[in-house]
Amino acid sequence: MVLASCAMPPVAATAGRDDRGHRSGPRGFTTVIIDAGHGGKDSGAPSKSTGQLEKNLTLDTAKRLRTELSGSFHTILMRSDDSFIDLDERVARANRYGEAVLVSVHFNSGPSSLRGPETYFWRVDSHGLAVRLQRAMTQVSPRPYANRGLVRRRLRLTRNPLIPCVLVEGGYLSNPAEAHLICDPNYRQRLAGALAAAIRSQAAIGDTGTGPLPPPLTSPPSRAGDRRE
Ligand SMILES: [Zn+2]
Repeated sequence: MVLASCAMPPVAATAGRDDRGHRSGPRGFTTVIIDAGHGGKDSGAPSKSTGQLEKNLTLDTAKRLRTELSGSFHTILMRSDDSFIDLDERVARANRYGEAVLVSVHFNSGPSSLRGPETYFWRVDSHGLAVRLQRAMTQVSPRPYANRGLVRRRLRLTRNPLIPCVLVEGGYLSNPAEAHLICDPNYRQRLAGALAAAIRSQAAIGDTGTGPLPPPLTSPPSRAGDRRE
């Protein structure tokens, strides 16, 4: 399905983009697609210490981010309720929009000692936005655990859309202290505010101040059977 949608005349390509994102990051974009990770039968990571599910926390954070951005951007919520949407379908929906960026919101899971936000990107045109989003989360997250940095990983939501796309992990639900933080609505509000500020900066000044672009990588679209989605 992804290949089929890539074969169509894409909206983004008509705007002059390279479909693998081998160009500097966007500025002046008008639409932000906010993707709340997981949903429906896919609960995402559970927090053993708080009983909360990742899918509900991502939806809440995505809605807060939309509120923060409304007025400045046309905002699209990939899902606005507890519904399941396949990752390839999310890509297809994102490809309907030009002059847009996609931000996918997740919370992490791993060994209980790990904590701190982390940001995934793949495309060159998504690097600047990824740097900004990671910096923003780091400013909100308590030190000294604040920064697990950027990870360049080919995921369906970091490789396949025709628009710049970044996936943020706003902390580890598997770490009891960070899970309690994430389950606090005030913390999610601060996180959403910081993410919104990062998106506004990217739209205003593009990649300025985000460091050198990473090397271009030529890889096929990510598929369902790949190592991690
Ligand atoms: Zn997730």
